[in-house]
Amino acid sequence: MKIIIIGSGIAGITFAEKFRALSLDAKITLLSKENDGYYSRPMLSKGFSDDDIEQSIIIKPFNDLLNNNICIISGVEVTGINRSKQLVNIKGVDEIETLEYDILILAMGSAAFIPPPFLPYQDCFYLLNNLVDLKKLRKFRQSMLLKNERPHWAIIGGGLIGCEVASDLALTNDPVTIFHAMDRLMERQLVEQDSQSLLNVLQTSGVDIRLNQAIKGLKKAANKIQIITDSNQSEYDSIIICCGFKPRTELAINAGLETGRGIKTNQFLLTNDKNIYALGDIAELPNGKLYAFIKPIRHQALWLASYLSKQEKQPWEAPPFSPSAKVNNFEAAHPYLF
Ligand SMILES: Cc1cc2nc3c(=O)[nH]c(=O)nc-3n(C[C@H](O)[C@H](O)[C@H](O)COP(=O)(O)OP(=O)(O)OC[C@H]3O[C@@H](n4cnc5c(N)ncnc54)[C@H](O)[C@@H]3O)c2cc1C
Repeated sequence: MKIIIIGSGIAGITFAEKFRALSLDAKITLLSKENDGYYSRPMLSKGFSDDDIEQSIIIKPFNDLLNNNICIISGVEVTGINRSKQLVNIKGVDEIETLEYDILILAMGSAAFIPPPFLPYQDCFYLLNNLVDLKKLRKFRQSMLLKNERPHWAIIGGGLIGCEVASDLALTNDPVTIFHAMDRLMERQLVEQDSQSLLNVLQTSGVDIRLNQAIKGLKKAANKIQIITDSNQSEYDSIIICCGFKPRTELAINAGLETGRGIKTNQFLLTNDKNIYALGDIAELPNGKLYAFIKPIRHQALWLASYLSKQEKQPWEAPPFSPSAKVNNFEAAHPYLF
């Protein structure tokens, strides 16, 4: 059996390794845009205070997978899926343009969501969604430190990732301001009382927090970026947009797979094509949920490998899990909402 997996995040890698262990005769090929190996995405939001992060974040070099008889083709982009011929199109390697599959596993994850009003200002901000993004941010920071200047950061978005990044930057003593559109932090994950204690913790660590902010636009001014709101204008050395995530559904849409917010699957993680499964950030379950956290994704990947190896018959059920924010000195008193 030929299995192709698209994506080298926790979903794709966990599936590949488990399936390799259970199905010795399968030909497993994993395709990824990444070049840095398999790394821990959650550690990205700790990427400023840890000097060694570019090494410590790597969980496994891609060569370890090759040694485990998983054919990994890195630095390539899958540009199309031909469902009738069961082929994927690849860009980035000269010799291979298409590959055949019996089973295709979609594990393309998610990109950072950029709210439409910010799309015209893409040269004014950074994102923090992958290791390449983190390296760019660290390089920028280092260039200022070398000039004996400390960057003043603005984070747009006071959700889970925005608060984590602000907390990490505060540890380095860089000045940081959060702009949040709502009247409390992490309003989707925390009850009001916990939002208030999060605000107190972040303020105590030196983070400037501005709630109820309607940003009208961004503007470059010399080496600074201005944030223009209804009521004022302020300047920063760098802006990071942390406004949530967007599952990468384009390939699936172009291939005619059913999508909603993510790629729609049944409770067996099967899409509306009997040869194509989806898992991880990209999979939307029949209850309309995307289980975009490490614990349930790992569980999905292990379950799917067992199911396709005929060792599991029951449908996938989400394991109990509780997300939590990696904000220094903060612990929610109530369970997180999901
Ligand atoms: C900053 C940050 C902090 C987080 N912190 C936490 C946390 O503390 N706890 C927690 O549970 N979760 C956390 N999350 C969420 C968690 O990291 C994700 O839910 C999880 O990593 C998603 O895994 P995935 O394998 O589905 O997708 P991804 O990790 O996004 O991997 C997708 C892969 O597919 C590749 N790819 C995409 N399209 C193509 C293509 N066309 N061709 C080839 N390759 C392609 C990508 O390059 C990537 O390698 C965090 C996320 C971020 C960004």
